[in-house]
Amino acid sequence: MMKDPVCGMEVSKEKARYMILTEHETFYFCSELCQKSYARQIGINKPTAKKGIFARFLEKIARANENSYGGKPPKCH
Ligand SMILES: [Zn+2]
Repeated sequence: MMKDPVCGMEVSKEKARYMILTEHETFYFCSELCQKSYARQIGINKPTAKKGIFARFLEKIARANENSYGGKPPKCH
């Protein structure tokens, strides 16, 4: 079981539908809401952040998420 970093709920890796992949870690979430909230927290929705190591890191995350969703947003309904 993995812990949802937003609300602290236990999330089963196998059943998790919402996740964020980073270079070193995968975060699992109980809901799209938590996923989005965490994405905001680590800056995924801020592409205008100044370019640097951190910006490149975020681009990597965005690409990783694209790969895991086949380039399409995850279905929530
Ligand atoms: Zn949650």
